Amino acid sequence: MKILEDKILKEGKVFPGNVLKVDSFLNHQIDVELIDRLGEVFYEKYKNKNITKVLTIEASGIAIACATARLLEVPVVFAKKTQSLNIGNDVYVTRVSSFTHGRDYDVTVSRNYLTKEDIVLLVDDFLAIGNAMKGLIEICDQAGAGIAGIGICIEKGFQKGGADLRQMGYDVTSLAIVDGMEDDGTINFREQEE
Ligand code: 5GP
Repeated sequence: MKILEDKILKEGKVFPGNVLKVDSFLNHQIDVELIDRLGEVFYEKYKNKNITKVLTIEASGIAIACATARLLEVPVVFAKKTQSLNIGNDVYVTRVSSFTHGRDYDVTVSRNYLTKEDIVLLVDDFLAIGNAMKGLIEICDQAGAGIAGIGICIEKGFQKGGADLRQMGYDVTSLAIVDGMEDDGTINFREQEE
């Protein structure tokens, strides 16, 4: 999506370890107008899929999830990252290993907000090696919920998450796919149909 790629080129910063920082519009400050436009793309793609919930993971997925869910007229549920201590029986839980942050954490979703009646659109800000998304899939599996698709703002196509999820049969829509980043700040995008 051209407006997102232009924004990444203008404001994104490449950090060591293949980390792309987009704090100025997605991960710290939020460009609400831009995020609303990204949400419209997910809405157009998935509006006929009978989606009942948009599921994301805190914190940076929440904005794009809300932009999408507002148009779909369904609630957003965000999985919470926890420290494992007091997890009761009233939640679905799975463990996610974060490559970016170099640690593992549990994610939980209350059984009250996800059930086998739900058809879910999974949404997140980044897709890298895919552990966060696979964690959300595991939560949906525990709930017996269906998964209509996966919407990603920025996929790092040189990491394996996108290929894994597509191979698993999921319909992954990534609004920008970064195929390479150089230390000098150069960012290359995969060509996609608008
Ligand atoms: P994965 O589990 O696919 O490796 O990583 C996905 C999660 O890690 C996303 O929820 C995102 O918060 C974070 N992440 C992964 N790579 C990047 C990156 O290059 N930049 C930023 N800002 N976050 C990233």
